[in-house]
Amino acid sequence: MKAIAVYPPKKQVQLIDAPEPALKGPSDVKLRMLDIGVCGTDKEICAFEYGTPPAGSDFLIIGHESLGRVVEVGTQVKSLKVGDLVVMVVRRPCGRPECGPCAAGRQDFCLTGGFKERGINGLNGFMTEKVVDDEKYMNPVPESLRAIAVLAEPLTIAEKGLEQMWQIQSRLPWDCAHVRAPGSNLGRGHCHNAVVLGAGPVGLLGAMLLRSLDFNTYVYSKETLDSPKAVLTQQIGATFVSSAATSLEALNVQTGNVDLVYEATGASSLSYEMMKYLGTNGVFIFTGVPGRKSPIEVDTDLLMRDQVLKNQVIFGTVNAGKQDYGKAIQDLALFQNLWPGAPESLITGRFAPEKFKDLLLGDPGGIKNIVSFE
Ligand SMILES: [Zn+2]
Ligand SMILES: [Zn+2]
Repeated sequence: MKAIAVYPPKKQVQLIDAPEPALKGPSDVKLRMLDIGVCGTDKEICAFEYGTPPAGSDFLIIGHESLGRVVEVGTQVKSLKVGDLVVMVVRRPCGRPECGPCAAGRQDFCLTGGFKERGINGLNGFMTEKVVDDEKYMNPVPESLRAIAVLAEPLTIAEKGLEQMWQIQSRLPWDCAHVRAPGSNLGRGHCHNAVVLGAGPVGLLGAMLLRSLDFNTYVYSKETLDSPKAVLTQQIGATFVSSAATSLEALNVQTGNVDLVYEATGASSLSYEMMKYLGTNGVFIFTGVPGRKSPIEVDTDLLMRDQVLKNQVIFGTVNAGKQDYGKAIQDLALFQNLWPGAPESLITGRFAPEKFKDLLLGDPGGIKNIVSFE
């Protein structure tokens, strides 16, 4: 079967012919892969910045943003049947006895660093024709989401981030007054201002989640106001602010008290600059992983003063738990209802696996490119 693989020792990316996996246990499920999203992680693996093949193998099949269809089920499989659509969880537990999170099924909070990730670290990924795994790592998807369910994995970043944000903010009376009014159908976020840094897929999906909760949402990114990303931002009822024309200071004049920053750029200097404008009782969520560049100067007195005097919380979040996938799948259906065509417009195109070089080694442009095995 066809698979897109990296050979780290040889520094090569190839379309290979890999052996088809077989069911190994009674709760295993075999999928025929349909759509696999390409993201920055895949490109960094293809630039050999990281990425680890399975033990004993010299290659790693990449791909972690998935959508597949069940073609075979083990004798004990209960939650899935042949023909079902599935999105896979990426991370697998470390299995070490001292790791409470992994033992509890929350390997997204793995303590030891010994976790594995399909398509990234120690396990083959999903850019291939067939995949086998245990049903517990699979999330069923309704057929109505066939065209967009590949966006579920990148949406889990925002789902996990916001779930933590609600927990953190529950330490103070942060709920909007109108939410408590009987008969009000305003979302939980309507009295709060949110700034999304970056308009890539993670940022735009985060903006959709924030808008679905009625946050007053600003997307701050480098594109111009007539760019497709800005048009999509407006379509979902958020405000696009171009960093080419507007400083963060000017953005802050527009927003008023910044209650929430959802960082989705991986740009640390921009993020720490934005932190200066985080408001009273504000929360700053980091999701990006910056490359190591030379250090910059940061006004630590100012930031520390604000963090104390304004009761701020700054936290980072990585990966996601199984419930975040379930929520992401539900919310894609909600987005489709709220803004018909908007989630689809994140998908720039579907490409045959033979096009892997353009997608992974070049700069194909667009928002989200998909490798299609169908
Ligand atoms: Zn990704
Ligand atoms: Zn662990």
